[in-house]
Amino acid sequence: MDLRLTFLGTGAGYPTPQRNVTALAVERGRRLYLLDCGEGTLRALQAAGVGYGRLRAVFFSHFHADHCLGLPGLLQTFQLMGRERRLDIYGPPGVKEFVRRAVNLAPFSPTFCTIAHEIGPEAPVTLDGLTVTSAWMDHSVPVLGYRLQEPDQPGHLDVERARRLGVPEGPALGRLKAGETVEGEGGRMVRPEEVVGPGRSGRSLVFSSDTRPNRNVVALAAGADLLVHDSTFTEAHLARAGETGHSTAAQAAATARDAGADTLYLWHFSQRYADPDTHLAEARAVFPATEAAADGLSLELPGKPAAS
Ligand SMILES: [Zn+2]
Ligand SMILES: [Zn+2]
Repeated sequence: MDLRLTFLGTGAGYPTPQRNVTALAVERGRRLYLLDCGEGTLRALQAAGVGYGRLRAVFFSHFHADHCLGLPGLLQTFQLMGRERRLDIYGPPGVKEFVRRAVNLAPFSPTFCTIAHEIGPEAPVTLDGLTVTSAWMDHSVPVLGYRLQEPDQPGHLDVERARRLGVPEGPALGRLKAGETVEGEGGRMVRPEEVVGPGRSGRSLVFSSDTRPNRNVVALAAGADLLVHDSTFTEAHLARAGETGHSTAAQAAATARDAGADTLYLWHFSQRYADPDTHLAEARAVFPATEAAADGLSLELPGKPAAS
């Protein structure tokens, strides 16, 4: 199943002509999820050609304005479109009140149901086969970081080949697929690797919104395929990062390195920087597999073979 990420906004604080504020689209198969929904998210979805009528759920990291002000307009637009399908909205405590206000901000007769879910690290969410876990970040208000994890996929069972090797119909086929050796007709033992192709490991995406470096995000991103991390400042503003509850690019890179993530994408750049070149250079000195996100950047997460 295709898994695609599109950065809709990569700036911190307020929008500029170059960068919108925070939002990230995750498309998995026909389903669309949003991670944060800053002002202008709807136009960014349109500009990126992401079919937003398919939106299934929104995950909010926190309720600072640059992460959430896009929701009221998005809900109004869905109402104009006559949306009927429910929309699930997840976030830290405060999400129910935020959604209630967003729905009541302007005269609005919803054609669809909006359901807010308060979640936290103790309550992982299972959604469309994805497991979404969260962890507390270190910011000036409570912030959740999220990990979206696909299940591992077993390899394909060659039923014809199994039959030829004498495996009887029925539960023996399921046991082979589950990795057990079974006895075929005539006493021949049939090993799963003879009839089951290679499996695929589930892909994992970790999204850390506003945060100082912390141990929780290292644990959340352990072995992740992709980590998207706060990179508000360069090292020249290290003290400012600590004061405001953010990270420098080099700190984000150290987190990716310590977590053993495959790839790091920097985002949430302070609007004081015209380009992310310094962020990128400082981060790559610590963790070479670093990229800088940009508004509209879209990437596919390839499938991967099972870990041996
Ligand atoms: Zn922010
Ligand atoms: Zn914030």
